[in-house]
Amino acid sequence: MLKTLQELTRPNIWRLKPYSSARDEYNGAAASVFLDANENPYNLPHNRYPDPMQRDLKKALSKIKKVNPENIFLGNGSDEAIDLVFRAFCEPRVDNVVAIDPTYGMYQVCAEINDVEYRKVLLDENFQFSADRLLEAADGHTKLIFICSPNNPTGNDLLRGEIEKLVRGFDGLVILDEAYNDFSEAPSFLEELGRYPNLIVLQTFSKAWGCAAIRLGMAFASAEIIGILSKIKYPYNVNELTQKQALEMLHRYYEIERWIKTLKEAREELEAEFMQLPCCVRIFPSDANFFLARVTDAVAIYNFLVGKGIIVRNRNSVSLCGNCLRVTVGTRVENEKLIEALKSFPQ
Ligand SMILES: *Cc1c(COP(=O)(O)O)cnc(C)c1O
Repeated sequence: MLKTLQELTRPNIWRLKPYSSARDEYNGAAASVFLDANENPYNLPHNRYPDPMQRDLKKALSKIKKVNPENIFLGNGSDEAIDLVFRAFCEPRVDNVVAIDPTYGMYQVCAEINDVEYRKVLLDENFQFSADRLLEAADGHTKLIFICSPNNPTGNDLLRGEIEKLVRGFDGLVILDEAYNDFSEAPSFLEELGRYPNLIVLQTFSKAWGCAAIRLGMAFASAEIIGILSKIKYPYNVNELTQKQALEMLHRYYEIERWIKTLKEAREELEAEFMQLPCCVRIFPSDANFFLARVTDAVAIYNFLVGKGIIVRNRNSVSLCGNCLRVTVGTRVENEKLIEALKSFPQ
């Protein structure tokens, strides 16, 4: 039986009356004289506080994502949403969370910052998870389960049937990180949001949208869950420059589609060349804009590449990723430089 949102939320957060900013208390458009927020009247347009609820941006996003604005939370990167779910739902030193392993490192870091036990369940040799094994790791104090598809650093989509089974079988909240879904053939779970009141889907402007610099992450969930996250966020968590730039990107949707297509083609070419290298042991199948490769000596090859000014991600010390490098797909020129450098690695 699914727990109620009140049962899942920390009591102090459930009771919390949020800070009400000047722009929360008056947000009508008709006014022309704003003397309520102690702003400086000069230095337009940077002098004004941004919209704390990012209404215009959510409205535009709502059309593209086909999700109502009340089901959208926007934050300073997805990392903000990850931190907020701990702060909203997990009582420090009492509650715990479960996650697949290996996966994105921020879930564990946020758990540790918030003093919440983090339980890892190893993926299998195909980098897939079993819903039953994650559910077995959970107990009465498990508030959240984290999964990531396509997964970082392994690059593969998780099995849809297992994700559905997990969300149906868990009485707490499932956080599904879709940071790389734009690159995958698998449909996003956003379409399923209405069927799963305990699902939170994370997406970001940092990858396919090419906007890592502006720091904008999205969480999609029931209006009740979004209400709780919005209640505890910093009042002006997404700055005006970010909101403007994101709106502009939403008008250039066609360009993003082209980038995605180019990057997927380039990934296949890069994988094919990588596979021919004497230092390559194997390449794991990817549904993202990067791939994981097992090499003869990850540390030596990583250092060799650094010496040539080329940086990849050394995942050698991550579970199941011994001697693995994670390679992001770059421009064709960058990819060619990587291959040329690796061809000169002395075996
Ligand atoms: C890159 C990445 C993110 C994005 O984080 P931002 O804070 O939005 O830049 C989220 N999740 C995963 C798995 C990632 O790899």
